[in-house]
Amino acid sequence: DTILSVSGVSKTYGSGTTALHSVDLDIAKGEIFALLGPNGAGKTTLISIICGIVTPSTGTVTVMGHDAINEFRAARRLVGLVPQELSVDMFETVLATVKFSRRLFGRSGHDAYIEEVLRDLSLWDKRDARIMELSGGMKRRVLIAKALSHEPDILFLDEPTAGVDVSLRRDMWKLIHRLRDKGTTIILTTHYIEEAEEMADRVGVIDKGKLILVERKAELMKRL
Ligand code: ADP
Ligand code: ADP
Repeated sequence: DTILSVSGVSKTYGSGTTALHSVDLDIAKGEIFALLGPNGAGKTTLISIICGIVTPSTGTVTVMGHDAINEFRAARRLVGLVPQELSVDMFETVLATVKFSRRLFGRSGHDAYIEEVLRDLSLWDKRDARIMELSGGMKRRVLIAKALSHEPDILFLDEPTAGVDVSLRRDMWKLIHRLRDKGTTIILTTHYIEEAEEMADRVGVIDKGKLILVERKAELMKRL
């Protein structure tokens, strides 16, 4: 079951940098897919295009039957993005942040869903804390809760463990597996090969804007 289809996607920024060269990729419902590549390879650009934040120069993206470029509002509801940078109001509480994000997507109510998300992320006990009071690992989990607020079908995580110590990284991997086990399709970017190896069902290797290899994990490990 294909949930997301990327076809012939290229991107040249206004600065003249070509970040992507004709990328094709199909993602199956329920899989964990890792986009592996060095800094500057085009990973963030690709997920930004799929999430409707950056417009591609050419190509098409289809998310659950919606054209993600021309109907980006419809497609955006189906995806949640956990960005690299801490994009929250530090003075706001955890619960208010997640509820506000849900309302931005035009979804109200469902306090039971929000409670479940915060419990899954071990943030329920911290729901009334201001984000600035939380540890680094908790702050990262708030970004995940925010991205899940509107019940997306696909969750994108941009470098979920960059700059994180080993034990927090393992916690994050477990957490991501749990989210998938609840039915969310997961796409993450990473420049750590061990993260791709540990996390993903399939790995796409991207370098200089080209998707040079897409393999099931077992096949990839034989090649590298
Ligand atoms: P577009 O053509 O898609 O509008 P631009 O080249 O105009 O993109 O850049 C959009 C924004 O990203 C600008 O504010 C620019 O300063 C910033 N930017 C430029 N180069 C980079 C880069 N290498 N990495 C991240 N952001 C950049
Ligand atoms: P990665 O996520 O793999 O590190 P990016 O998608 O951020 O790669 O960047 C791919 C290339 O596009 C890099 O050369 C980067 O400098 C450039 N780039 C990224 N964002 C912008 C932007 N907004 N404007 C201009 N160039 C950009």
